[in-house]
Amino acid sequence: MNEFVHIHLHTDFSCLDGYSDIKQYIQKAKKNNIKYFSVTDHGNCACIPKLIQECRENEIKPIFGCEFYVNNFHHLVPNFKNLSDEEKYLVKKNNHLILIAKNDIGYENLIKLSSESWINGFYYKPRISLDLIKKYSEGLICTTACLGSELSQYIIKEKYKEAIDLVKEYKDIFGKDYYLEIQMINMKEQDDVNSYLISLSNKLDIPLVLTNDVHYCEKSEFINQQILLLLNSKGTISKPEGLEFHTNQLWYKTIDELDELWENNYKSTIPLEEYKESKINTVKICEKCNVVIDTNPKFPKIENAENEISERCITAMKKKGLYKNKIYRDRFLKEYEVIFSKNYCSYFMVVTKIIEYVKNELKEQVGPGRGSCGGSLICYLLGITQVDPIKHELFFERFLSKSRGGKFAKLQFEEKDEII
Ligand SMILES: [Zn+2]
Ligand SMILES: [Zn+2]
Repeated sequence: MNEFVHIHLHTDFSCLDGYSDIKQYIQKAKKNNIKYFSVTDHGNCACIPKLIQECRENEIKPIFGCEFYVNNFHHLVPNFKNLSDEEKYLVKKNNHLILIAKNDIGYENLIKLSSESWINGFYYKPRISLDLIKKYSEGLICTTACLGSELSQYIIKEKYKEAIDLVKEYKDIFGKDYYLEIQMINMKEQDDVNSYLISLSNKLDIPLVLTNDVHYCEKSEFINQQILLLLNSKGTISKPEGLEFHTNQLWYKTIDELDELWENNYKSTIPLEEYKESKINTVKICEKCNVVIDTNPKFPKIENAENEISERCITAMKKKGLYKNKIYRDRFLKEYEVIFSKNYCSYFMVVTKIIEYVKNELKEQVGPGRGSCGGSLICYLLGITQVDPIKHELFFERFLSKSRGGKFAKLQFEEKDEII
């Protein structure tokens, strides 16, 4: 039975911070019979295609999240030079916050927030504001993240009124999908935050969730992750300067390891009931997450593309004097069968029409074809390439085959921007 899932986890997509890759984590999760795998990388969702693929291959349910950087003073960035020291501090400060997609709308909002952070919110890091969180909160689960969160910072500085106001504000936004995150990472500040959050949880009826802010898979990989952090902060192993938080506890702990840690070090500060609840809530979060992502490529549908391809190819073969040659006819049929079975006919016609438009309307030059599409007779007959693959003994299978996804035709134009 799954009693706990690491819902706060960084992969190597958390640049110069997360050490292990998804594959390694998933192997360990599988060994421990874990049914869910959640990723919350820092400031980006770039791992998602890989996460989907790995989870699919291993029959594990992926959970999509992100540890965002939150800053509510981003609008002051253009005027930075004229700001007071206090304002400069507020503009620079990045507060951590975890958002996890509960359903398809949540997933769309997660991606919207991520895009916003990179396009409009970038200042050293991709950032979002509370206003944006409010705007795109539907379908998202929020957990309060690590010591780098606004909430933890208030608690550490003993600004309890601000802490309570903040928690109430987030609870208004996320309702039952708002969780207070506690961690057992052997840090005094975190222990203080835990105690305060446990009391807040009881007082305001907000569920707790246990996380380990995972940054690497195995305990022994602590040093590897430390080196990544030092590369980032320009410190050295002998002079580890610039590191915000010091703990060697951020590996993908097994449930037994967590229980042992609690038994030995945390029993007195995290009561049994709260410990159990915060563990099982990680599973409940994963259970309520249900995101369906269609990973099939989406091409515009061209009516009758199947017939148009075959008519055009036969006409072209006749024009080029190739139709009587059985080798060409057989090759055409073989390629056509693959393209048809993969539902790529519309795609081939779209590419053909782009090339024709560029050549005939824009009167621009088009390259003779790059990469593996040179191995396709159909590309040659449709005018996508100008290379006869039979004459040059090029293989179609390098470009497309029934058993694998296939590549797309690489196009080369002189005036790319205008064409796009
Ligand atoms: Zn964090
Ligand atoms: Zn984190």
